[in-house]
Amino acid sequence: MDDCCAVCAEPLEWVAYGPCLHREVCSTCVARLRFICDDRRCCICKTDCNLIFVTKALGDYTRVVNDFASLPSEVREGKVGSYWYHEDMNAFFDDVDHYKMIKAMCRLSCSECDKGEEQQNDGSRRQARFRNIGQLKGHLFHRHKLHMCSLCLEGRKVFICEQKLYTRAQLNQHINTGDSEVDGSESERGGFMGHPMCEFCKTPFYGDNELYTHMSTEHYTCHICQRQHPGQYEYYKNYDDLEIHFRQQHFLCEDDACLAKKFVVFQSESEMKRHNTMEHGGRMSRSKRNAALQACTMAIFSF
Ligand SMILES: [Zn+2]
Ligand SMILES: [Zn+2]
Ligand SMILES: [Zn+2]
Ligand SMILES: [Zn+2]
Ligand SMILES: [Zn+2]
Ligand SMILES: [Zn+2]
Ligand SMILES: [Zn+2]
Repeated sequence: MDDCCAVCAEPLEWVAYGPCLHREVCSTCVARLRFICDDRRCCICKTDCNLIFVTKALGDYTRVVNDFASLPSEVREGKVGSYWYHEDMNAFFDDVDHYKMIKAMCRLSCSECDKGEEQQNDGSRRQARFRNIGQLKGHLFHRHKLHMCSLCLEGRKVFICEQKLYTRAQLNQHINTGDSEVDGSESERGGFMGHPMCEFCKTPFYGDNELYTHMSTEHYTCHICQRQHPGQYEYYKNYDDLEIHFRQQHFLCEDDACLAKKFVVFQSESEMKRHNTMEHGGRMSRSKRNAALQACTMAIFSF
């Protein structure tokens, strides 16, 4: 799967990379991260990449710029030597069509005002320009009382001017159930049922993948239950809740040091006893300890 984007998992056609030379993420994902999320780190190694290079993904034959210092400096938007420079992304492109495509994707304009201008058709197209997403959002709210869904803004791979616009009530409906007037019929919204929610944090996420990442980094699962019933995930809000589960359903070592260490829990009583003997048997005499250890070992083998 090394010819798929490491972020969106779609086939890698165009890559964008910085001086760390990680060429695993597609230009669209990188553009969105830099432009919408204002995140200029490499998705792979997390180093800051001020300047990036965008080129066609050709596996081993992908064009590699080894020395970023050799790229033109003090440049402005547009053609620079044999490259095209995109100011908002701080990126060099070696393909004019792809440069234009990404530039259009990042174009900040108000689709409501654009619509009005087309209707007037007085020839004087006054292009509403915004310096950043925040400015556009502010304009949408103050001028039109409309909102973009910030989850869709970060997750949906469409041009910014193609993002749907909602009233406050429609936006809530969009996030919770997906069936707002703006989103249209069930087939029009491709089965979209609203953004999945973390029930613990009461926070919605763009899709199941984003929710899964949140659940597995911010919340806990029981590794014993997971092993016993694979595919059946029960999440716990925090470690304290998981510890209660350990105490009720499994064998938790109640020794203070083990409680502080966390996750010292066993599937069976015999494993628990073995742990007790090994770790906390200091007060027992050597022979007694060995005897207890042997009994435990036998209990394990008799399973
Ligand atoms: Zn991607
Ligand atoms: Zn990197
Ligand atoms: Zn407008
Ligand atoms: Zn949305
Ligand atoms: Zn959560
Ligand atoms: Zn469990
Ligand atoms: Zn212990």
